[in-house]
Amino acid sequence: MSPFAETADAWIMRALLGALVAAAVAALARRAGALTTSGQWMAFVTGTAATAAGWGWAALLVGYFVLSAALTRWGAERKRARTLPMLSGGSARRGVQVAANGGLFAVLVLAGELRGDGALLVAGMGALAAAAADTWATEVGLLFGGTPRSVRNGAPVAPGESGGVTLAGFAASAAAALLFAALTGLLQADPGLPSGRADLAVLLAAMSGSVADSILGATLQSKRWCDQCRTWTERRVHNCSYRTHHARGIRWMTNDTVNFLATVVGALVALLAFGALG
Ligand SMILES: [Zn+2]
Repeated sequence: MSPFAETADAWIMRALLGALVAAAVAALARRAGALTTSGQWMAFVTGTAATAAGWGWAALLVGYFVLSAALTRWGAERKRARTLPMLSGGSARRGVQVAANGGLFAVLVLAGELRGDGALLVAGMGALAAAAADTWATEVGLLFGGTPRSVRNGAPVAPGESGGVTLAGFAASAAAALLFAALTGLLQADPGLPSGRADLAVLLAAMSGSVADSILGATLQSKRWCDQCRTWTERRVHNCSYRTHHARGIRWMTNDTVNFLATVVGALVALLAFGALG
């Protein structure tokens, strides 16, 4: 039976049960230090939406966050030491970070299942694959990548600076793209996801989203300047305790905005590629 033929009762039951499970998982993640209070709330909302779409989608979302949190913890001391002048500390995900990475995915797969539109499900996979490719590139690049170079002009940039890329980071994003393409291939056994080249569409989406993230990070993202240290940073208050000021890019274009836009690129590329290849 197609999941699209589900009754309204089945939907409501799963959404209610999903809200309970999402609340429990979000509370556990908060206790483990992977989420802040706002992050816990946003994880509850996105988790409930993903569960209403289907248990498989919820499992995918949880898998993404658990793997990302594990990657963040991996060599955390070394990464923190490298990025101290650039990024404000704290590995726990805030609400805006959860929304920026998982929000579009949850909305698209819920809409796709409700409307019975398989292309929206592929777009949702593309959005989350783009988020994963970017997150993994950052975390692995900071551990093994050496000095990152700007995608804009190839000049060396500080570790953690947006728009900087490393070979190790690129390899990690390619691995994420391949993993999500493989998962999409597996999920096509589910009658909800259309057959055709959905896996290839998701692969392209992940790589495009990751590249878009680097380009936006190097060009439009807000960069701040510390007068005391005479250095670029993303911190509002620098590690020298001086207040920094916006000096380049678009003021409201934060790292979270860029991450969200990368998932938009991922969703659009998945949609277009799936249409063209399907
Ligand atoms: Zn400073």
